[in-house]
Amino acid sequence: MSIIRILPEAVANKIAAGEVVERPASVVKELMENSLDAGASRVEVSLEAGGKRRICIIDDGCGMNHDDALLAFERHATSKIRTAEDLFEISTLGFRGEALPSIAAVSRLELETRHASENAGTRVEIAGGKLRNVKEVAWPQGTRVEVRDLFFNTPARRKFLKSESTELGHIATLVTHYTLAHPERSFRLVSLTNEILNVSPVATPRERVYQVLGGQLLEQMVEVTPVERRMPAPSFAGPDEESEPGEPVIVRVFGFASRPEIQKLNRNQIYFFVNRRLVRDRLILHAITEAYRNILPSGMSPVALIFLEIPTAEVDVNVHPSKTEVRFRRSQFVHDLVRDSVRQSLVAARPVAAFPMGKQQRSPTTDMLEADAAERLSDEPPGLKGSEIPGPSGPPQRRHDFRLSSPRPTPEPGRLPLDDAALSFYSPPTLGGQTAVPTVAELPGATGASELPADLVPLGQVQESFIVATNPEGLWIVDQHAAHERVLFERHIRQRRERKVEGQRLLMPIVVELKLEQQAVYQQIADELSANGFEVEPFGQRTVAVKTAPAEIRADDVEQLLLEILDSVGQEARSLSLDDLRLKIAASVSCHAAIKINMALDQNKMRWLLRALGETQAPMTCPHGRPIVLRYGMKDLQKAFKRI
Ligand code: ADP
Ligand code: MG
Repeated sequence: MSIIRILPEAVANKIAAGEVVERPASVVKELMENSLDAGASRVEVSLEAGGKRRICIIDDGCGMNHDDALLAFERHATSKIRTAEDLFEISTLGFRGEALPSIAAVSRLELETRHASENAGTRVEIAGGKLRNVKEVAWPQGTRVEVRDLFFNTPARRKFLKSESTELGHIATLVTHYTLAHPERSFRLVSLTNEILNVSPVATPRERVYQVLGGQLLEQMVEVTPVERRMPAPSFAGPDEESEPGEPVIVRVFGFASRPEIQKLNRNQIYFFVNRRLVRDRLILHAITEAYRNILPSGMSPVALIFLEIPTAEVDVNVHPSKTEVRFRRSQFVHDLVRDSVRQSLVAARPVAAFPMGKQQRSPTTDMLEADAAERLSDEPPGLKGSEIPGPSGPPQRRHDFRLSSPRPTPEPGRLPLDDAALSFYSPPTLGGQTAVPTVAELPGATGASELPADLVPLGQVQESFIVATNPEGLWIVDQHAAHERVLFERHIRQRRERKVEGQRLLMPIVVELKLEQQAVYQQIADELSANGFEVEPFGQRTVAVKTAPAEIRADDVEQLLLEILDSVGQEARSLSLDDLRLKIAASVSCHAAIKINMALDQNKMRWLLRALGETQAPMTCPHGRPIVLRYGMKDLQKAFKRI
């Protein structure tokens, strides 16, 4: 008896229409989805010529009986939905009933399958959409679909295929991401010469990430711990509202998000799964970008794998034929939940850049798929690495509780003269008072209070640029400019929030010439500039006179700072929120005011800086998102010296 049915025309017409077979990867996607929908616990994909010559997918799923094996190739033939209402609650990856006929129309396809209810299997052969042969075969339960010579009958489309390696790359990426969404199943991907991927079932997504992407990447990621939240009842019952009042609608988010030191130029490595379906969604991309605001420099993107589990009635997958776009019924809720979950995980983690060493010294931009299998095998099992990362440091009192294994070096006051810029270095750190410190959530860029251990002892500087410090955990290296910048940035933001930032009157006004665009920006942000310690007045046609500037800025730096602020705000001025504008100004001011690299610091100043940094909300990343601190843990040292 058939379980596949042809959808009535009225239902078929409601399905997002369009061609889905664009390239070998789209064939693999549709066939893999079918295998997963069939409940397969093993899916094996083999390829020749990047899938252009041959794609073969074998699964151990439920299989099809003889009738269904034929019916499956009719348009709109599916076992997954029946009525138009079913479109509102799709729990399978497929539902359009279009993939098999579309693929069979443009290739030579062979299907072998057997359902448990039948003793014999069925083989169906179709070429260019024409049925060539059907016969009984011996076949274990499950399904095998072989697609040869894709687009053999549509040469124009064949021409558009890319090189073998490009197509293979697309397929490898795709299969990798399905493996991440289904850790409890096993997957294998092979080409004629290579086994590209082979993963056995594991209990947790974390283990699957380790299997597929390697320990190195896992170490660079923070686990987004599962967050469950009940959706609020819709504020008004529109005509489409169907959920019963009181019925709990639980949404769950979990996954992995990269530490701030991982920075990508585009968003291609943000993967988002809704009910285990890989989708591209602008709303979620936005939520993730928001979560990294002031943790990553603007324009940079993280690596993220985010899984959302949401009742099927809350998400519409019938938006686009390739089923990679979705629409959420309550999109703002989903957006905020994802943003907050990612943000909180970043806050809870200690985003310390481990000091790279030896063979682990791989660029953070190493593509996820480049991870070489041999190297992965020699990595430690997951979990071990994580335990090296020290847990959150104790309460602030611990700050004075020195437990040193190394003697404290004696201060060397005034070893080298400091120039003017360092004067601000002595300005009393207003961060000290506990009450003045805003909550983590309040301060942008905050990634957890006091993550920097309080017991660091500065040993000296490397090239008068990087402070070297130790504590019992190991060796720490701190970028002195970035550290001071972070301290000043938080202070500036706080002062601005509490009141107007006082400026310092310049001896002589500084006249700055503005380009037309800079003039326009200046007019728009003049009030905010004056609340940030600038007193600027129009002076002549194209020039302004700066009479007062933020206190820490040297006179000869004022012009450059002002121009930099105007340019960085640039065309965004109209759309920039007031908060964003304040952050931009604070980031520019603190960058200019901070001590520079190539500047000698004595012991007192280094100690002051480390302490002030430890008191900031985000001691590990500078306002532009670069790392401030590197840690070379005791274990790393012992390993490097072959003591363990
Ligand atoms: P859809 O997946 O949208 O239903 P397809 O054209 O991909 O449409 O597949 C048609 C039908 O064929 C499916 O609904 C399913 O019943 C059956 N089918 C396809 N592939 C498999 C498979 N690997 N194992 C079991 N049944 C399958
Ligand atoms: Mg399908």
